[in-house]
Amino acid sequence: MEALIIKRITIFCSDVNFQDVFKATREQVFSRITKEAIGVPRTIGIVLQQAFIQAQTNTHDQKIGLSELNYGISAARKTYQRQFEGSIKRKLLPGFYMDMWNAIITKAISEKNKHPERPASHILIDPVRKEYLNILCENFHLHFLSENIASKGGGSYNLYSLDYDICNEYNIKYAEEKDEYTAIRFIYDNIIREFDPYFTKEKSKSYRCPQCNKIYEETEVVKSKVKRCFDDDAVLEEIVHMDLPRTEGNYAEVEIKILGQISSLNKAEAMNAREIADAVGCTTQKVSLWGSRVLAKKGLINIDSRDKNYYYSID
Ligand SMILES: [Zn+2]
Repeated sequence: MEALIIKRITIFCSDVNFQDVFKATREQVFSRITKEAIGVPRTIGIVLQQAFIQAQTNTHDQKIGLSELNYGISAARKTYQRQFEGSIKRKLLPGFYMDMWNAIITKAISEKNKHPERPASHILIDPVRKEYLNILCENFHLHFLSENIASKGGGSYNLYSLDYDICNEYNIKYAEEKDEYTAIRFIYDNIIREFDPYFTKEKSKSYRCPQCNKIYEETEVVKSKVKRCFDDDAVLEEIVHMDLPRTEGNYAEVEIKILGQISSLNKAEAMNAREIADAVGCTTQKVSLWGSRVLAKKGLINIDSRDKNYYYSID
């Protein structure tokens, strides 16, 4: 992390020293950015860009200190949060992901409330449920840290952390030592087990009789090709359980994020393609092509032109 930032400073502005940009100590700067970005270069970019812009508003001292850094970290996290909320709102992602996120954060807050002095920032999940959390990781609400972590209660788990800035917002203490996050209370499978039906590929079938409404499990009627009610001989109707929630379009991850980002912007907050590209982590060309040729044509977003630039918003 530290090497990544120093290398960039050396390549892009070789005459600039660390002390020319930052007034906080190296250790403070890198420890905070590391916790928020978990090695994602785009996040480091947004944090530093926003911290720098904030520092320029000071009249006397325009170097980046801790408060500017915290501002940058919050700005990065809020950007990701808005993309996620926008994607849910537009049904680009199934709504249960928001329910799952709320369930996780509610549990973390209740852990914190029980013992405010203990960290509640990390969670352990059985590896069989790994895919459940992919979307929350792609949207940087959770960070996947490691697999094969032994819990104090036995068993091997995947380890995740809640986003550092989200922990700050809810006053959740962030675990610094390995010893702090292997406790049994960090195992969240009882929370996300509730979402099993959404991820179960092998759906169990059952059948309903249209005459008497009796329900049959597949095992009871598996032998006959045409399945009939034992009581009234009516042909049974198959019940499809927990059909996968439908989402609109079949968009790529980056396309979902672009539309999610734009969906979070009202007219007064409209952003140009460069700003959206920075927030999403793609090229400006991708934003302008997809925005004008697809999204605006479908009437999904609004594009205004002013100051020789195009501004994208939801209305
Ligand atoms: Zn019947």
